[in-house]
Amino acid sequence: MQVSANRAFSLLKELAFERVSCSEAEKKAAQRLLEEAEKSGVSVKIEEFPVACGKVNKVKLVVTAPYQKEYEVTGYERAISTPDGGLDGKFYYAENLLPVHMENAKGKIVMINGRLRRADYEKLQKAGAAAIITYSGSTIDRIGESDCDIRKLREPLTNDFGDAVALNIRAADAAEIVRRGATDMHIELESECYEGISQNVCAVIEGKKYPDQVISFGAHYDSVYFSTGVYDNMSGSVIIMELLKYFAAHRPDRTMKFNWYGSEEQGLLGSKAWVAAHEEELDQHVLMINIDVAAATLGQNAAPVLATEKVVGYVDALMKEAGIACDVRLDIYSSDCIPFADHGIPAINLCRFGAPGANYIHDRRDHLKSAYIDAKSLDITLQQALYLAKRVDSAASFPIQKEISPDIKNKVDDYLFKTKKDK
Ligand SMILES: [Zn+2]
Repeated sequence: MQVSANRAFSLLKELAFERVSCSEAEKKAAQRLLEEAEKSGVSVKIEEFPVACGKVNKVKLVVTAPYQKEYEVTGYERAISTPDGGLDGKFYYAENLLPVHMENAKGKIVMINGRLRRADYEKLQKAGAAAIITYSGSTIDRIGESDCDIRKLREPLTNDFGDAVALNIRAADAAEIVRRGATDMHIELESECYEGISQNVCAVIEGKKYPDQVISFGAHYDSVYFSTGVYDNMSGSVIIMELLKYFAAHRPDRTMKFNWYGSEEQGLLGSKAWVAAHEEELDQHVLMINIDVAAATLGQNAAPVLATEKVVGYVDALMKEAGIACDVRLDIYSSDCIPFADHGIPAINLCRFGAPGANYIHDRRDHLKSAYIDAKSLDITLQQALYLAKRVDSAASFPIQKEISPDIKNKVDDYLFKTKKDK
């Protein structure tokens, strides 16, 4: 059994549908990955975990003065509902939340630029904003060719800074609202919270020589709303499936675990749940290899390493030896490698990023019809992963020290919002 990029790409095509956290579609994709892994005769199972979910039943945004117009809007999942009859208030555009903006935000319906980051949320809550509006996309997006993004007020925000009313609109509408000088708004939001179930697909091949040393392969298989996530990240999911097929047929020296993570797009929930559920075995883990985005036709290879400069040098040398051009660097990467590095496990990400103009992510353009990914390009990361996996697995003495540099540790802590006082 050899790896096959064409076989991997066929599976990718089969799973090229929206797979949002806790949806039936996410479950269906997990089931299909499980069946595919079972074909190799390895031990594989689904591990479920709970996710704080929200559902928006009704949402409305109307500018009431100095002109009247209703805009298409989505409510943040897990935001709180407006009072009966909705909320009428003054509109204020707080751009980037500088002190002057904060002075003026109290009691207003406040719109900010772009995403609602945790630091922005903290400022808005402390300033006493009545409601929050964000926007998504770009001002040239047109209805029918783009979507009004659906977002969620995640727990790292609400747990520390309380609940809020939050809405999202299109960038083009945000610009119109500001241009036309909106002063007053009426908004309505009816939402409910519930606990959803997401799942990881977990396979194991026991090592024949060093069964107590574990190499963990990871890829998330969920997608965001409106996206079929073929690039992000069915590409990585099918690559680790090929590695599983290969190592099921060529038994490794070290134990290999293959995890397809659910709900990564909601804040790495699958890998966080997996690490929490397997805490007692983490001291056996010697390396995590994560693949998140591949197959870009016009693209470039990168390998962010969450370990030390020594590991960067080692991976860089291996890539040169294999003749694979790859930018190997010491850095964090926003993906399932984070919870592993947080537990002191060195992690290597293999990515093939789309080049400018051929890189569609987190929207409806991450789709096969965008013609920006292909099997031949998927083979680049597949071969890279296979080479790296074979070399580390067959080493007489494991070549990667179990160490995370202080700089990476700090970046991981910042990423996970671990404040100085909990360190
Ligand atoms: Zn991803």
